[in-house]
Amino acid sequence: MGLPKKGNRQKMTFMTRIFQKAMTGRTTANGGGPSLDTMLATFDKELDNFPTLMQPAPESKPRTPFDSKNVPREKMSMANMTPKQMLSALPVMLPLMMQMRRCSKLYDGTFQPTRAEADAAFMAELESMARAAGAADIAYVKVPNNAIFRDKGVPCQYAVIFTVEMDKENMSSAPSYDAFKEVATGYKNLAVIGNKLARFMRSNGFAAYPGTALGGLTDYVYLAELAGLGAIGYHGLLITPDEGARLRINTIYTNITNLPIETENEHLWVRDFCAMCKKCVRQCPVDAIFDQPRPRGDGGMQSIDHGACRDYFNQNFGCAVCLAVCPFSQVGYDAVHERFKGNPSAPQFRIPRYGIEAARPIDDRDAELAGHG
Ligand code: SF4
Ligand code: SF4
Repeated sequence: MGLPKKGNRQKMTFMTRIFQKAMTGRTTANGGGPSLDTMLATFDKELDNFPTLMQPAPESKPRTPFDSKNVPREKMSMANMTPKQMLSALPVMLPLMMQMRRCSKLYDGTFQPTRAEADAAFMAELESMARAAGAADIAYVKVPNNAIFRDKGVPCQYAVIFTVEMDKENMSSAPSYDAFKEVATGYKNLAVIGNKLARFMRSNGFAAYPGTALGGLTDYVYLAELAGLGAIGYHGLLITPDEGARLRINTIYTNITNLPIETENEHLWVRDFCAMCKKCVRQCPVDAIFDQPRPRGDGGMQSIDHGACRDYFNQNFGCAVCLAVCPFSQVGYDAVHERFKGNPSAPQFRIPRYGIEAARPIDDRDAELAGHG
């Protein structure tokens, strides 16, 4: 394939600048490529508006950065999109960025709650609003300190966790532009729903701070497993009955103290299946998924080499091969469960439910599993 003609090259450069400016406020002309980490850092600054925050645990891990320092800008997928791809991505990316900014503006530190207990009618309305807005699942959790990323904080101790589903056909094409756009659409939907629900909660007197969909202040995958929505697979992604691994997660931090928090998780057999499946381990293009999750030294487990994943991810439209090939994404949770007869020799990884039961040490085969950021 030859180089585009000069006129087309100029058009592409112009569109690339517009695209990058819209996405991140930075352009190649002002010295930077797209930097999600820079944008997320501006959202994090809103935390300065709070005199006190719930703090991370001393052993909390940092948020996984998105930017690849070792990959030249011209090799990043975002810098190599065709004009057609950019035009098609803008209606997703622009609202995503705007909604994320709207979410961050709710952290201005001015909201004063008037209530801290919700009745059944309010919870039913909240859930029905979430589902009508496109949420696939919704659950609740008391946020443990070790779910808060190092150097971050959250304004409230409780959280609403919700998910959105991503289209099977688009995700099956990963790594591809179509899969990238589907993921971006998932994030946009999360941000829209987060804003909508948070405003509804506030209008009823409750504190509500939506996560920013991408990035965030806490480990959403960990919180979603704690909330009982599903189990974290060897690829580090949440696996749920209705979506497999084809989902994205967001949170709303709230002061509601009587949320209907689930105390059991019936999905942890998933990791017994993982221990014999390992399809994602074999098919990861850069061998970034460990053969078996490794103890991190802080009581948690690490399933992914983030550096190796990130560099490939940024050059290949967010990759997502592990999500696409996972049997739970392909044939579905029920079909896997029906055929799976158990794996008594599988190593067990069970998340300690901080605040609900005491954490047990890792040699009791009790651990947090961490994967993608
Ligand atoms: S591909 Fe297999 S090993 Fe990997 S997360 Fe899915 S079920 Fe688990
Ligand atoms: S997203 Fe990362 S971990 Fe998953 S297959 Fe791609 S490179 Fe591997």
